[in-house]
Amino acid sequence: MSAEMDTAVITDKTKEIRELTCIVCPVGCSLQATIEDGNVLDVEGNSCKRGREYAVDELCAPKRTVTSTVRVEGGFLPLVPVRTAAPIPKEKIDQALFEVAKATLEAPVRIHQVIIADVAGTGVDVIASRSMPKTVGTYPASGAKTVLVHDACV
Ligand code: SF4
Repeated sequence: MSAEMDTAVITDKTKEIRELTCIVCPVGCSLQATIEDGNVLDVEGNSCKRGREYAVDELCAPKRTVTSTVRVEGGFLPLVPVRTAAPIPKEKIDQALFEVAKATLEAPVRIHQVIIADVAGTGVDVIASRSMPKTVGTYPASGAKTVLVHDACV
């Protein structure tokens, strides 16, 4: 997900109006936030309270959900998709991705299994977005992989 920060309109020496698009849901409301001395005084254009919360977070402490992949040893596929269980501060994203890049798992992996606890010191875990069963062998004739679906994966 990427935020859209459209424009900043200076209204006087201390107040400005920031225009941004809410990305919390697909409606994409156009928001106008009035800011004074770094504080959000008012938000207009939101169709629900989540839009106001989004504008305040985005302007004061922007966060994002981070998605990536982690290598899996002995898995049906070599990579498993992962994501942060909640949005993390934008300034922590590089460190989080560095920690994810260093991680290696062993199959089987369960969906929602914690892959990295407290990633980048954010208090948020990185979790598996899907299960990854073990590969247990090949059919001699075809070379096709056989798959053991671990109980925990279903
Ligand atoms: S303000 Fe509410 S309805 Fe509008 S985009 Fe944000 S979450 Fe959706």
